Amino acid sequence: MRQIRQSLKLKDVRYDVRGPILVEAQRLEAEGHKILKLNIGNTAPFGFEAPEAIVADMTRHLSGSQGYVDSKGIYSARTAVAQYYQSKGLKDTTVEDVYIGNGVSELISMVLQAFVDDGNEILIPAPDYPLWTGAVSLAGGTPVHYRCDESNGWNPDLADIESKITENTHALVIINPNNPTGAVYSPQIVRGLVDIARRHDLVVMADEIYEKIIFDDAVHHHAAKYAGDDVLCLTFSGLSKAYRVCGYRAGWVMISGPKHLAQDYLEGLTLLANMRMCSNVPAQHTIQTALGGYQSIDELIVPGGRYHDQIKLASRLLNEIPGVSCVEPRGALYCFPRLDPEVYPIEDDEAFVIDLLRAKKILVTHGSGFNWPEPDHFRLVTLPDEDVLTEAIGRIADFLETKRS
Ligand code: PLP
Repeated sequence: MRQIRQSLKLKDVRYDVRGPILVEAQRLEAEGHKILKLNIGNTAPFGFEAPEAIVADMTRHLSGSQGYVDSKGIYSARTAVAQYYQSKGLKDTTVEDVYIGNGVSELISMVLQAFVDDGNEILIPAPDYPLWTGAVSLAGGTPVHYRCDESNGWNPDLADIESKITENTHALVIINPNNPTGAVYSPQIVRGLVDIARRHDLVVMADEIYEKIIFDDAVHHHAAKYAGDDVLCLTFSGLSKAYRVCGYRAGWVMISGPKHLAQDYLEGLTLLANMRMCSNVPAQHTIQTALGGYQSIDELIVPGGRYHDQIKLASRLLNEIPGVSCVEPRGALYCFPRLDPEVYPIEDDEAFVIDLLRAKKILVTHGSGFNWPEPDHFRLVTLPDEDVLTEAIGRIADFLETKRS
């Protein structure tokens, strides 16, 4: 038989958090090594349990949910999402504006497939959660990265965004709270981003999956609120991170703004939703339970809570390593430290991560995997408990000692 090759569509598509670095980690595991995987934000392996009510709901609905449902999602889940945003001041949100998907991941791809024509430019932060860049490329678009400024708390550089807008620019992606940097944007920044979209007639795509994972005095501001009724805004969130059920695959996108101008687009989105029938039905039933009632996430993000204490500890320990600096994350589950190139002259950050993996049996992700243009960052997941984190960062420090110029 002839060689079977991947399609040309995949030419520019990358997703490094599970790429060659993970293959190498799995190879080492097969050799019998124990690898500490700090490459993905997966809560379950680190002893986080989902709220009991969510698990009970999932279990209860296993037997009764064998059938397909509405491809946009079951009514109770969509109502719960609509009401959630209403309670946040988005009073015009209705059940019709919500699509439920197999996690935010599926929806990012669907939304872009329905939206992007060949050569359309989509503004995406650098660093980004790399699914955005990969999904834009896969849809035939051109990802255009705007710079987030490390020296300014990783805030998006609004002037850089303006300078990159062309007549082909169609949308602006906002990731807030940000993965990988942990930045949580002030109202001024969110307003500034949305105003750029307003001035240039861009659709806003706001990935807010970490909206409930914010620390200290950080407050999350929904882009949709600033987008109002004149900027089309797609808001993404889900249960994976705040409710610790990434494996259930439950997420949503909520459409707000001038929906009457987007009817054609929304028909396309519904077509794609129809073509994949529906998302995991038992998991959809847990959405209403998750969004209503007691929010156990609140215990994890305050001092004494694991999300809070671990991320603070990790950021402090990283900053204690000579030549390493880490802007203190204000949200999400990651540290994104910088390795001073004068101290650590790294040319290939993926090779650096693989060296670290082989030497210290710890898997982190290289900064270029998040479309960061210089080989001087890596991302560390802060989900292990404090003892494991301390041990892991100690091993990283020992490894860095051997790499100093
Ligand atoms: N968006 C961001 C910013 C993420 O970090 C992740 C997962 O890490 C996702 C989306 C995907 O989440 P889901 O599990 O809902 O597909």
